[in-house]
Amino acid sequence: MTEAPGLRMFVDGKWVDALNGRTFPDFNPWDDGVVVTVAAGDADDAVEAVDAAARAFPAWSESTPAQRQRVFLTAADLMQRRAGEIRDLLAVETGCGASFAGVQVEFAATLFRQAAALAYAPVGDALASDLPGTHALARRRPVGVVGSITPWNAAVSLSARALAVPIAVGNCVVLKPSEESPWSGGLLFAEILAEAGLPPGVLNVVPHAPGEAGGIADVLVGDPRVRRLNFTGSTVTGRRLAENAGRHLKPLLLQLSGFNPLLVLADADVPAAARSAAYGSFVHQGQVCMCSRRIFVEEQVADAFTEEFVARAERLPVGDPREPGVEIGPLINEWALRLIERRVQEAVDRGATVLAGGRAQGPCYPATVLTDVPADCELALEETFGPVAIVERVPDADAAVERANDSPWALSTGVITGDEGRGLRLARRLTAGMVHVNDSPVNDQPHMPFGGSLDSGWGRFGTGPGRDDFTEVQLVTSRAT
Ligand code: ADP
Repeated sequence: MTEAPGLRMFVDGKWVDALNGRTFPDFNPWDDGVVVTVAAGDADDAVEAVDAAARAFPAWSESTPAQRQRVFLTAADLMQRRAGEIRDLLAVETGCGASFAGVQVEFAATLFRQAAALAYAPVGDALASDLPGTHALARRRPVGVVGSITPWNAAVSLSARALAVPIAVGNCVVLKPSEESPWSGGLLFAEILAEAGLPPGVLNVVPHAPGEAGGIADVLVGDPRVRRLNFTGSTVTGRRLAENAGRHLKPLLLQLSGFNPLLVLADADVPAAARSAAYGSFVHQGQVCMCSRRIFVEEQVADAFTEEFVARAERLPVGDPREPGVEIGPLINEWALRLIERRVQEAVDRGATVLAGGRAQGPCYPATVLTDVPADCELALEETFGPVAIVERVPDADAAVERANDSPWALSTGVITGDEGRGLRLARRLTAGMVHVNDSPVNDQPHMPFGGSLDSGWGRFGTGPGRDDFTEVQLVTSRAT
């Protein structure tokens, strides 16, 4: 990986240059070294990719379950065989540490195995009918071409999720990875799935230079052959995409920002709570949409919890994620680092107290804990994509629920309590699309419904529920003449 080889794009089963001939450098956020030079696609390449996907669709939608199953089982094995190499790639392309990179590889391999099983799942229901002698079938069928737009932060798991279920149920995909992760979030999958036997055109990957996502997205939204979109990224971009998609009546699945709470109740096991809080706030230096940003802790345990949480934050080693033991690697880019610095500074200027971290170290920002953050600071109002947690004392569990729900975002919430039943009862009152009792909000398994409520998105990914978003039901009735 030190030689920075060139990567082309993948269209119609072939590795090709961008039609415009341009390339762009893919940087390592740790040292700004060029990891690889990548073809810089644009709208014209996206049209070619949609052409290829549309051509491949009739045959792929009629492929046998055995063929689809074989592709995904082989791809799962290839992912695991290449795990070490993929972990290294995630480190240099996205600054991801070895343990979270390992989680991503396992997630993708498991997802692929579940996608393989989907090939043989029932494709519909036989319905009762009030008309005598009539047969009625509600059959789920693939929709055609699916456009997938994915982010860099968990490049392997999120791109795997954006393509596996759609393809397993018979669709063809055009994947637009993030400009920050064209390799691990895109071209890697082209390589693996092609080697696993996926026919040409079923998966096409169009990478692009920074600032040029819009032209490719416009093709995916506007081309009538693309029947569904799925997007994982920020609420700001998702809203823009949804406005545009609305004009074309194009259904889309949206996984957007979170601003996730962790509730620590007075009966919690304090060391366990501090462990969940540290993982939930600082995994992959806080660059996971499910990360806990706001920790509401009941007064009785607030001192003990804060002391342990701060001690854990201070122990997290900062540095190059390729070094063993490093937990906090670089932020994805300079812009992200400066945004965190600015927001923490604003909070401090207005009276917040820094209990841990709070100062950049090269391209990294250490695990940071703040308290007394004024409610109208940017930090207290919306997601800041980095390792910064706000601790807030609350008088009781009702106040914790009220504060947790006081946000337009509702992705994931953790509740730490000694009484599991109480946690389950509180879950009913929380707006979040996902609630985890006695775990951090960072919690995801490929077969479970993943998604948020309110401004955190629409629809659910998952090898179970996700199928509904990538198929449509056709009703067929028949009777003898
Ligand atoms: P993040 O902050 O996680 O990078 P973004 O919403 O900026 O979130 O990026 C998520 C995905 O959205 C990336 O693939 C990015 O290239 C893409 N993207 C950025 N701008 C647009 C746009 N105007 N239309 C569609 N997709 C876009």
